[in-house]
Amino acid sequence: MDENVNENVNENENLNMNENANGNANQIQSQGENDGRRSAAWAALKTAVQACERCELCRTRTHVVFGQGAADTPLVFVGEGPGEDEDAQGMAFVGRAGQLLTRILSAGGISREEVFITNVVKCRPPGNRVPTLEETMMCGGFLEAQLLLLRPKILVCLGGTATKWILKTTEGISALRGRWFEWRGIEVFPMFHPSYLLRDESRRKGSPKDLTWQDVQALKNKLDQYKNKVGHDGPDT
Ligand code: SF4
Repeated sequence: MDENVNENVNENENLNMNENANGNANQIQSQGENDGRRSAAWAALKTAVQACERCELCRTRTHVVFGQGAADTPLVFVGEGPGEDEDAQGMAFVGRAGQLLTRILSAGGISREEVFITNVVKCRPPGNRVPTLEETMMCGGFLEAQLLLLRPKILVCLGGTATKWILKTTEGISALRGRWFEWRGIEVFPMFHPSYLLRDESRRKGSPKDLTWQDVQALKNKLDQYKNKVGHDGPDT
């Protein structure tokens, strides 16, 4: 990862730890400065990702897909990598799988506009193959920086690649979905990737769609718990 980005991320984390040191006036001033630095770090990160040529995926991409959505959100989704539509548009989860995800979330009372969504790798693997371990290792630092700056309360890992990268596990997504885990103080909730749901149309009890519907309802309940607590803020996107 870009050295300046790392410095900015670390600097902002240190600032966050010092936020409560003084009185209200100082807190407000400090918060304003902190917000400004987080936004600057976010912009630097975005610039670094857009220009990245660290792995072979840069050679075949049309666009880098940084991710998009609300920065002041308690809920972030992370998938595997951009597909054909995402590569063409430079936007995450805008193809058929993304549209299905939008519909499922909407049915569960969660709007796409209120979440941030991205992927472990920011460039499309040719033919939509699974990214290699080397590619995820190269690109994963960018995701880590995004999460440090966004500071969500809940991180939904869509599919096995994202779940394995975050939880550092070899267990399959079928065993992990619908369960709560923790990563650096963030609640992690693995779910099936929507592209998997496109391959199995069944809605029978226990089918991937049925299980995903249960997961979305559990996610909505957890999200409401956080929304009823103190507000959340993040960098300008
Ligand atoms: S996939 Fe990630 S590490 Fe590889 S070129 Fe794209 S942005 Fe860089």
